[in-house]
Amino acid sequence: MLKKLFIAVLLTFTLILNFSACGTKQAGSTVSSGEIKVVATLFPQYDFVRQIAGDKANVSLLLPPGVESHAFEPSPKDIVEIRKSGMFVYTGKYMEPWVDRIIKGTSGSGVVIVDASAGIELIDENQQEEEDSGEESYVGKDPHIWLDPVNAIRMVENIVEGLVQADPKGESFYRKNAGIYEKKLWELDRKFSETFSKVKSKKIIYGGHFAFGYFAKRYGLDYISPYKGFAPDAEPNPQRIAELVRNMEESGTKFIFFEELVEPKVAKVIAGETGAGMLLLHGAHNISRDELNEGITYIEIMEGNMERLKQGLGYGE
Ligand SMILES: [Zn+2]
Repeated sequence: MLKKLFIAVLLTFTLILNFSACGTKQAGSTVSSGEIKVVATLFPQYDFVRQIAGDKANVSLLLPPGVESHAFEPSPKDIVEIRKSGMFVYTGKYMEPWVDRIIKGTSGSGVVIVDASAGIELIDENQQEEEDSGEESYVGKDPHIWLDPVNAIRMVENIVEGLVQADPKGESFYRKNAGIYEKKLWELDRKFSETFSKVKSKKIIYGGHFAFGYFAKRYGLDYISPYKGFAPDAEPNPQRIAELVRNMEESGTKFIFFEELVEPKVAKVIAGETGAGMLLLHGAHNISRDELNEGITYIEIMEGNMERLKQGLGYGE
């Protein structure tokens, strides 16, 4: 029932967006004909390149549809494709720790390498655990920068500089499109701020891995996940699950959010214990084959999240 409702909401939303975003959508294919070949590691930067470069770039997404991104490593064939490309865009070294090998392998080949996280202030990976348990096991930085729309704007700025370097003749075209797209991202940011100024609860209980740290920080949300690590294969902490169940019962929280592309085992357990409903909070690391065929965009994913957050946090109540 909920799933049907969710699909109906998503479809309605997609339709609305189709009307309002005429001309910015690409056909649901990872490859379009164009001049420069771009390889992007994750979905957000794949979509950002599409939005800025349109038909001037032939952009491919390194992740096959539906594949979980944290455990992904490029195959030798992928590495050959990157070397043959004009530009390679990655999220940052904490998301793609294998990137050093690629950078070394492409030196002298003329491939423009774009670190989309350049200039973005990264959050420590263990921040949540430190607050909760006083543990000081420093691991790294949280890689999920793209879920904060303001960081997404910074990523777009990094990407447009890369495109200009890879294809100087297209400079005015890329800068113009980037400017238009950045305005849409600012509008998305404004709508999230507006949404969270009118919700009953600012507490997101997440059954998935800790992906929405930057997002929660941007909008002053309380974001709680039972996972210690930053990847879906990290083991959820049973003590934290019990704590969350208690916390939800005490605060009367009616919904738990779950992540995309993996079986939401933890969310199901917690929903079963508490009778809470389950809602998708899409981390946009990667997309399913169906989403790819629909030609879904980063902004559509985030607007979908916004609708479900309104439902889960009691918008206007
Ligand atoms: Zn993640």
